[in-house]
Amino acid sequence: MTERDWRIFREDFNISYKGSKIPRPMRSWVESKLSPELLKAVERAGYKTPSPIQMAAIPLGLQQRDVIGIAETGSGKTAAFVLPMLTYISRLPPISEENEAEGPYAVVMAPTRELAQQIEDETVKFAHYLGIKVVSIVGGQSIEEQGFRIRQGCEVVIATPGRLIDCLERRYAVLNQCNYVVLDEADRMIDMGFEPQVVGVLDAMPSSNLKPENEDEELDEKKIYRTTYMFSATMPPAVERLARKYLRNPVVVTIGTAGKATDLITQHVIMVKESEKMHKLHKLLDELGDKTAIVFINTKKSADTLAKGLDKAGYRVTTLHGGKSQEQREISLEGFRTKRYNVLVATDVAGRGIDIPDVAHVINYDMPGNIEMYTHRIGRTGRAGKTGVATTFLTLHDSDVFYDLKQMLIQNNSPVPPELARHEASKFKPGGIPDRPPRRNDTVFAH
Ligand code: ADP
Ligand code: MG
Repeated sequence: MTERDWRIFREDFNISYKGSKIPRPMRSWVESKLSPELLKAVERAGYKTPSPIQMAAIPLGLQQRDVIGIAETGSGKTAAFVLPMLTYISRLPPISEENEAEGPYAVVMAPTRELAQQIEDETVKFAHYLGIKVVSIVGGQSIEEQGFRIRQGCEVVIATPGRLIDCLERRYAVLNQCNYVVLDEADRMIDMGFEPQVVGVLDAMPSSNLKPENEDEELDEKKIYRTTYMFSATMPPAVERLARKYLRNPVVVTIGTAGKATDLITQHVIMVKESEKMHKLHKLLDELGDKTAIVFINTKKSADTLAKGLDKAGYRVTTLHGGKSQEQREISLEGFRTKRYNVLVATDVAGRGIDIPDVAHVINYDMPGNIEMYTHRIGRTGRAGKTGVATTFLTLHDSDVFYDLKQMLIQNNSPVPPELARHEASKFKPGGIPDRPPRRNDTVFAH
């Protein structure tokens, strides 16, 4: 293909890059340099073609480049880092009695237990064929037991940062030979206040293996360098700070417009009074048939109250929020995945990263406090190429987000309710100077 063909290819798949010495994207699995074993595992997983983030990020990962990936939820980010990570590991001697005391070869950090669990499932799907062992280290389970499992020997640890740092500080685990690290949903980890723990974990790895700061310096072919992957929907300053400190000459891969809700989602916003929400929700749920819906609500307490009410009214409903135990959450999610329940009432715990297939409808019973959370919530539908619907109940109390929401609807060619369109708060950015309207190709990453 000519340079021009490649440019068209990148445009077709909405792939953009920033950085130097960037390898070409792979157009198919056959074209990837993955091992025959991994290609077989990919085939068994039923992945016929790589998704755009996989096309772009896998060749980078195979060259052990540091990567910042910016892509919407549901775009296949997990396999985009798992496959190069497993390739790296399969070149190292297997973890055995000789080296197990030095800890795992790779660490993946994710903001929540559910997400860590999903990454584990996706990793095991491929790792299993290579005899690579994966251990997850999350809250809500015995730390002694987890420490024991790490010391028994494993190549990959998937963890929430709080629990992992606890494990390291209590000497249940070490990271003396860990040179592959992934921060999934980095912005979310920062939002949740985990920056110190993330930094603590990164600092527990051998820093002598960081690539040189100067990108022109020759890399030593025999040496192992640390590879760092970071995924984030947006790039707030704290995430950039992490990137600057721990990533070397990274390539930034952006798929589509970061932070933009996917075009596959039809967005409806309905202006309501608080007292009308329940009746309207019943109507929407009655139209679901055998499809599934997630109902987002802003507090744990109201989630419980709402779920109880729906249950009484005969809906098949379960709940997911931070006030529940690990076991209860898993039972809820499992019941929802297997469609024993078709309605999940959730707080923002479920707003990010959790992969629940086939959610036909996301209903924001309450509008969240910011547009990023709105984007993540509605991203629970319209995944993996399917279409979805998101309905939001908006009240006059939500005026802080009117401006951003209106812009979002305009960008997505979705109808703006007249009460929102003419409301003063929708005309100016809160606290700001009247802003130019965001353009379609604006990226959230600050250059
Ligand atoms: P993200 O982390 O970007 O939100 P995930 O990695 O969780 O997305 O992937 C979303 C869903 O798509 C998962 O169910 C995953 O198994 C599936 N998936 C990933 N890559 C592919 C592919 N190339 N072809 C088909 N399905 C895929
Ligand atoms: Mg993910």
